[in-house]
Amino acid sequence: MEACLVDVSPILGDLGATVVVSGELQVDDLTVGAEEFIVRGPAKYEITVTHTGTAIVAYGGVSLPTVATCARCLCEFPLDINGEVEGFYVFPGKDSDVPEEQEVEYINSDETVDLAPAMLAALVLDAPFAPLHAEDCAGICLECGADLNEGTCGCGRGDGAPGHPFSALRTLVDQDSAGSSQ
Ligand SMILES: [Zn+2]
Ligand SMILES: [Zn+2]
Repeated sequence: MEACLVDVSPILGDLGATVVVSGELQVDDLTVGAEEFIVRGPAKYEITVTHTGTAIVAYGGVSLPTVATCARCLCEFPLDINGEVEGFYVFPGKDSDVPEEQEVEYINSDETVDLAPAMLAALVLDAPFAPLHAEDCAGICLECGADLNEGTCGCGRGDGAPGHPFSALRTLVDQDSAGSSQ
């Protein structure tokens, strides 16, 4: 991943001063757990960088167009990942006032900060563990591999088809809920 350097020298001398940066950044394909998100284009970001006194704080949004693989039916589908960027930067050796739980990065000696790691962290955080191409994706038949989004399969083991081990159970549940409403 390339760096996204922002020159903070104009706001370093001025408490409360802000600079808004926006643009595009080339990002590598994301791997989060077992899922891979293939990048379709550059990440777009808009981030406000503020001098708060103790630190330089970056806050904003980043959006990355990807192609994800559905965890149920294994089809590929376009997915935009939208992350909330938070960065906290101090001068080396000036982090004694900073709360311990705060993750800290350092202001470079040329008075720039690199927003790229905070953007990547935000994207990874927003990437779903089990992406679904649709909330109600029916998945594939575990027996024959047919895509059940296209209808029940011929092997008789697909979800909802006669002979499914849970279909008898479902009938029981339906009867039960009908009975309780009386
Ligand atoms: Zn699916
Ligand atoms: Zn089947």
